[in-house]
Amino acid sequence: MRSARIRPTYRVSASPRSCATNEAAAALPGFAGLHPYQDEETVQGALELMYRLERALCAIVGVDRVTLQPAAGAHGEWTALRMIQAYHRSRGDKRSEVLVPDSAHGTNPASAALSGFQVVEVRSGPDGRISLADLESKLSPQVAALMLTNPNTLGLFEREILDVAEMVHATGAMLYYDGANLNAFMGVARPGDMGFDAVHMNLHKTFTTPHGGGGPGAGPVGVKADLIPFLPHPTVEQSDGHYTFDFKRPKSIGRVRSFYGNFGMLVRAYTYILAMGGDGLTQASLDAVLSANYLRKQVEGVLDLPHEGPCMHEFVASAHNLAPQGVKALDVAKGLLERDFYAPTVYFPLVVAEAIMVEPTETESKATLDAFAAALKEIVEQARTDPAALHAEPHSLPVGRLDEVGTARRITAYLTGQSEDPVLRWKRVQK
Ligand SMILES: *Cc1c(COP(=O)(O)O)cnc(C)c1O
Repeated sequence: MRSARIRPTYRVSASPRSCATNEAAAALPGFAGLHPYQDEETVQGALELMYRLERALCAIVGVDRVTLQPAAGAHGEWTALRMIQAYHRSRGDKRSEVLVPDSAHGTNPASAALSGFQVVEVRSGPDGRISLADLESKLSPQVAALMLTNPNTLGLFEREILDVAEMVHATGAMLYYDGANLNAFMGVARPGDMGFDAVHMNLHKTFTTPHGGGGPGAGPVGVKADLIPFLPHPTVEQSDGHYTFDFKRPKSIGRVRSFYGNFGMLVRAYTYILAMGGDGLTQASLDAVLSANYLRKQVEGVLDLPHEGPCMHEFVASAHNLAPQGVKALDVAKGLLERDFYAPTVYFPLVVAEAIMVEPTETESKATLDAFAAALKEIVEQARTDPAALHAEPHSLPVGRLDEVGTARRITAYLTGQSEDPVLRWKRVQK
């Protein structure tokens, strides 16, 4: 999806057939017309769906319970860290640090800081994976948790994850799984079995909801038994086929989202999981990994690949070797737009200079992957022969190069009621 063709069709994260089905399910009047103030007795079907989705997600990631409330991955991270904090405090343990690898998504340190923790960075080794020696040196009784995504943002599987879990748990800290990369091994391996205590999932990355379309997302969080008392309330409980919201949870961190989360996303995810089945989800992950490796092989020799393969569901290339021509990762991305491709993420992760992160997903055909590789080759060729032409791209789209920095500054100027001069510092507006 992150590299899907932008014309003539715009694809989303599941097979077109099931995507349409999931949208149709979410639009059913019985779901779409619900009011959050309705009496429990009149929304038994919605509660049953939430209950069943929770059970399905527990099975997929290997945890004991899940809260469906968080509205995004970052919100899920924050929710989980608050639970981990409440857990430590309930034991009279005031741990103040959260460890985050240098390859982590920016939301990881942000969530930790927002929860009141000091963020301590753990370095990657030369192979792009977390350095156990550096981890060892940062672990202490002050550490509340290590946040990790596996495969990491370089698309590399953290092979020493069982050792990492043992080291973290030996100091009394917890292990948090950033589940944004769950696409790589659904139905193949489970973070819960690797030793993770809390896990977020991005329903808008892994379970069909279109990502980046401007709509709402959902970032459910799964936890192992130790963290269950701290789950946000209400939870959905079932007894004799009757479903209820449980607000009587004395150790709960409280509500983290108005009402019960973005319910429409939950309907889409549940429909998708049922339509795919366990085997289908496994196949989706295997296909996503195959697509990424197939494409990675074609990119070898075109762009620099700083880490050894094979990769998981994504890989990171670098455009640094185009620097002599004055061509940057941004120019490659714009060139892809000109050639009808949705540009991949650039300049992330931060540990790779001029990074270009490609995640083809399971939905793209071999023909699309080949066309993408051909477009990349053409762009790199053009960078060598006529970099000025590349700098002028895209020219066949409604807009060309946008003045992003200027726009950000002028918006700030507008919002603060100041002139159009660059506003580089935030000031309180006097009303
Ligand atoms: C997308 C992403 C997140 C944050 O998820 P949002 O739903 O965008 O808040 C966190 N970590 C990684 C690795 C991601 O790719």
